[in-house]
Amino acid sequence: MTATLIDGKAFAARVRADVATGVAALKDAHGITPGLAVVLVGEDPASQVYVRSKGKQTVEAGMNSYEHKLDDTTPEADLLALVEKLNADPAVHGILVQLPLPKHVDEAKVLAAIDPAKDVDGFHVLNVGLLGTGQKAMVPCTPLGCLMMLRDHLGDLSGKTAVVVGRSNIVGKPMAQLLLGDSCTVTIAHSRTKDLAEVCRRADILVAAVGRAQMVPGDWIKPGATVIDVGINRIPAPEKGEGKTRLVGDVDFDSAVEVAGAITPVPGGVGPMTIACLLANTLTACCRANGLPEPE
Ligand code: NDP
Repeated sequence: MTATLIDGKAFAARVRADVATGVAALKDAHGITPGLAVVLVGEDPASQVYVRSKGKQTVEAGMNSYEHKLDDTTPEADLLALVEKLNADPAVHGILVQLPLPKHVDEAKVLAAIDPAKDVDGFHVLNVGLLGTGQKAMVPCTPLGCLMMLRDHLGDLSGKTAVVVGRSNIVGKPMAQLLLGDSCTVTIAHSRTKDLAEVCRRADILVAAVGRAQMVPGDWIKPGATVIDVGINRIPAPEKGEGKTRLVGDVDFDSAVEVAGAITPVPGGVGPMTIACLLANTLTACCRANGLPEPE
């Protein structure tokens, strides 16, 4: 058996096209252009790549992109002052502070300072609470992208057994909440879980968000299960030449593809959906701010 590949790249392109259509309609009908502000503190190379591609895709969707690059020695007070300024700016509908922040900055304090209505990453405790109580929230982009792919592939998720490996605030926990919201029976596994292989084998839907290269082998997967691989890990790839590397997920793709019913590849699965959902959240935030109907 060979699993169906869930093409996140193609799906993300469709989501971005829908966002661009929504943005154009907002401009035409109301003269409003959604704006996304991204704050980057320091020189972390991976964060720089993300921020660059977020800015590019924001502009391609017809929105305004405001990038704020701060030195990694920027005092916490200055960062908080910038967040306050963006909160008060009516041209800014979404604010994203790129994580991780330098050690001298209290991440929780900065996230708490963002206006929850502009919190397009969905990390503010108010949005976390709204999601947890099944109310209208800003939903974190990576798990939202995963949910969209699952709904698209499986249709109704109700009654399915879902296992989420990983309990981080940005992926694992909100993923579990979303699956629960869609009436899955959800298990959250983590580094202290006993008999992880057995737990995973129960899953109709298996989401791996661990950050350990190829940790989940094919024999942990229930035949026919849908596997969402959130992990992005760089490993040596001597076959490509000396010192070369390649990206792999948390799932051992080669063995998993023989057992699963469907699987997201890495790269080209969850990754592209994350930025597409960020743009979708920014459009939603803009509509809410202006009392307009939200996109579907
Ligand atoms: P974190 O490091 O914050 O969380 C990892 C989780 O995995 C923790 O809950 C940890 O458990 C659990 N874990 C670690 N080792 C094991 C193990 N041996 N067995 C079971 N569980 C384990 O990572 P993130 O959630 O931020 O990210 C997870 C992965 O997803 C990373 O590879 C990251 O790069 C990727 N990612 C991809 C995104 C995308 O756009 N595609 C976006 C965000 C993340 P415990 O809590 O007990 O320590």
